Amino acid sequence: MAWDNVFLVDMGEHRLMSKSNHVDLVIKSDRTYAWSYGGVVKASLAIDGGKIVAFGSEANMPKAEKVIDATGQGKLVMPGWIDTHAHFRDPGFTHKEDFETGSRAAAAGGVTLTVDMPNVNPPPNTLERFEAKKADAKTKAIVDFGHNASGVVPEEIPKIAKAGAFGFKIFQLIDVGRDYPHMSGTGIRDEGHLFQCFKAVSKTGLVCLVHPNNQAIYEVIAKEYMDRGEVDHRGYARAFVAYQNIAVLAGISTLILLQRSTGVKLHILHVNLRRAWEMIRDARGHGQDISTEVNPASLFLTNSWDTIEKWGPLSLGSYCRPEDSVSTWDALNDGTATVIATDHAPHHKSEKEIGWTNMFKSPGGRPMIQEYMGLMLDSVNKGIIPLEKAIQLCSENVARRFGVFPKKGSLDVGADADITIADLKKKHTYTQEEVLSKCGYTCFEGREVQGFPVMTIVRGRIVMQEGAVIGKPGEGEFVSPLSHTVLT
Ligand SMILES: [Zn+2]
Repeated sequence: MAWDNVFLVDMGEHRLMSKSNHVDLVIKSDRTYAWSYGGVVKASLAIDGGKIVAFGSEANMPKAEKVIDATGQGKLVMPGWIDTHAHFRDPGFTHKEDFETGSRAAAAGGVTLTVDMPNVNPPPNTLERFEAKKADAKTKAIVDFGHNASGVVPEEIPKIAKAGAFGFKIFQLIDVGRDYPHMSGTGIRDEGHLFQCFKAVSKTGLVCLVHPNNQAIYEVIAKEYMDRGEVDHRGYARAFVAYQNIAVLAGISTLILLQRSTGVKLHILHVNLRRAWEMIRDARGHGQDISTEVNPASLFLTNSWDTIEKWGPLSLGSYCRPEDSVSTWDALNDGTATVIATDHAPHHKSEKEIGWTNMFKSPGGRPMIQEYMGLMLDSVNKGIIPLEKAIQLCSENVARRFGVFPKKGSLDVGADADITIADLKKKHTYTQEEVLSKCGYTCFEGREVQGFPVMTIVRGRIVMQEGAVIGKPGEGEFVSPLSHTVLT
């Protein structure tokens, strides 16, 4: 297996921040991912007060209240995964998910920090709404959390930034024909308005996350499909990629130009098209500050006509052709893709049913936060992506881009002890019964993966052990970027 070839180094090193020789927790490990040592090394960790206080050989670890033995052939200790694209539906749509159920599913999936999206009701597009959401989430979160605010009200943007927004999310669309998930208050159709918002976000130094789309063009295409009666899940998928993906590509083209003129830290969401990767590579080659997100759906689910036929509306939203999915794996491996985030977007099965006959009326999205680590580690085992690269995309790069590194996304002395232990040899077959999201279903039922999270630790606290979530609501802490400029 690919990860069996890692070069194990026993550093025989011991570094303590404090003089204390008795700590809360020691994790014994012979396969730990640490960026500062260039990859996977043989090193144990000591944790005290929620922070990593020692890193080195097992013999040099201090005495501890509790010892976790993570040695053994398949075990891997890595920085907890960070998901910057979670739709927790709270407030407003809590029959689909709420902050507690979403955070519980995250803990089960090996995620130690979630950042949720603002298409909730009321959307957090003012300081007051943002503060209310933050206070409510604090009582429910099991793992640590941040919020992407809605960046559609320019005068509120500097105020929300000061209140600790993780980033600002903008949808380049507002739904017609259905009233969710892209409702008004979170989307922008007018490019002058988008230009104003980019200028405002640029001054905060925070990242602007954009769902790319050219709505005017998309509406022309959608109307053609509706007029012909091609509105089931198949018609919707075809419309999504019609005319050589013009709706999404025209959106991305606009974003690249607006980034160039405003200097905003642009983060383009769910990129999955060969032509899009070419455009983004070119822009970055000219020095533009553009990062990108890939979703597991376009790697494991909606890139196959077979799964579209089988799961229909339960799997849609987006669709991408298999050849485009191949280009996305290339982008992940060559560094054009910056992060992987789940786009965990639960809806009730009953809300999705209409999509079998009219997908244009069904809300888009599917659950993912509990499932994606298994799918990614399985890809590592299959040699599709190197282990280190997968960890960087799902944790380290995320922390770096959003300004929470090295407090988060890093296993080193001084960092928060946010740790996921995975077993790279463990085989797991997904079932409906294990789903913790309120939506109650998974599109991966019956799929077997090799490689699965077995323990999730947030600031030294075990929140998941062998699939059982033992963390309590309210224990998660609010996280905001460590350094950014707020110019007013
Ligand atoms: Zn989304």
